[in-house]
Amino acid sequence: MNKKYGTHTQVVHAGKNPDSEHGSVAPPIYQTSTFKFDSAEQGRKRFSGEESGYIYSRLGNPTTDALEGALADLEHGVGALVTSTGMSAVTTMYFSLLDAGDHMVGSDCMYGPARVVMEKEFSRKNIASDFLDTSNLDAVRKAIKPNTKLIYIETPANPTLKITDIAACAKIAHEHGALLAVDSTFLSPVLQNPIDLGADIVIHSMTKFINGHTDVIAGAIICKDENVHLRIRSVLRSLGGTMDPNQAWLVLRGLRTLALRMEKSQNNAMKLAEFLENHPAIEAVHYPGLKSHPQYELGQRQSKGPGAVMAFELNGGYEAGESLMNNISVALLAVSLGGYESLIQHPASMTHASIPKAERVEAGITDGLIRLSVGCEDVEDLIQDFDRALG
Ligand SMILES: *Cc1c(COP(=O)(O)O)cnc(C)c1O
Repeated sequence: MNKKYGTHTQVVHAGKNPDSEHGSVAPPIYQTSTFKFDSAEQGRKRFSGEESGYIYSRLGNPTTDALEGALADLEHGVGALVTSTGMSAVTTMYFSLLDAGDHMVGSDCMYGPARVVMEKEFSRKNIASDFLDTSNLDAVRKAIKPNTKLIYIETPANPTLKITDIAACAKIAHEHGALLAVDSTFLSPVLQNPIDLGADIVIHSMTKFINGHTDVIAGAIICKDENVHLRIRSVLRSLGGTMDPNQAWLVLRGLRTLALRMEKSQNNAMKLAEFLENHPAIEAVHYPGLKSHPQYELGQRQSKGPGAVMAFELNGGYEAGESLMNNISVALLAVSLGGYESLIQHPASMTHASIPKAERVEAGITDGLIRLSVGCEDVEDLIQDFDRALG
């Protein structure tokens, strides 16, 4: 895709349509598990790689390829791999890049299961990890060991909206022969392109903004380097976390309106964040679009926008959090984010309830913290509803 085109044009046209037969504008769903060969010789050549073409859908399918092509275009990678879930993207990356005896450095307040699976499961395979505040570059430098192979950051991070400097972390990683992977789910390719800032790998939970319709679970891995891409592709095909063609079709359909949805949600989020910041029931709003965000400048520099997810702290703590959850009516009380509808949740009693309180508060997830993913509603309705529910 021509990088000169505007973001909306790129999102609408990224990738290639796989229908060479009839020219259908919407991509066909190749709902097949396997592909017939014309002859024994063709089968042999497909397997040996002498001839390109499809073999079996876990190894590749035209509909999943169409989605991969679009994502590689939008994230400026050599290729993209689509996965059954966002977590399968994360674990396939871990498995591909880390061997027994290796070490990784991660963001402390990243998506919970991405940390838990490393500390509980990969640790049993003798892979070590340290999770720390990666927005503090000195802490990142100090955590690097001779066996560190991967730095994995999430920025903006879940749920505190802390921002990590992607270019600086890429530099640190590369000075030590490690790779930098970035979970860019909160901003999507429309607002942040980590590969352009030096990252080696981009991870997305496409369950969130990319699909955007709260009806599919899906993930993606986009690589800068061909060898890394081929290594992860080979592991993905063997471990089997690949995507189904019907799922790929739905995500591609959602992707085409990503820029439009992101623009509306982000505009709504900005207005709502300003309203909440001035509301007496609210102690603080964490949103990269507000000048009060501690890394406002960094966010402006490395991203094209602050996105549509924010967190805010209520003066009344845990009880005020529960009360708001029970009184809000336009935003739906549900975990997840990035859909066309606003979703609100209370991490202390929901997504992060299993973390011991001291650790939770240490990572910035206080009792009165609320996470809000702003959707495409009329912003006046959202503001009025919050004003009423906070009262
Ligand atoms: C949801 C999420 C994931 C995990 O994705 P699933 O599709 O739920 O498996 C990973 N990272 C971030 C930032 C997320 O929000």
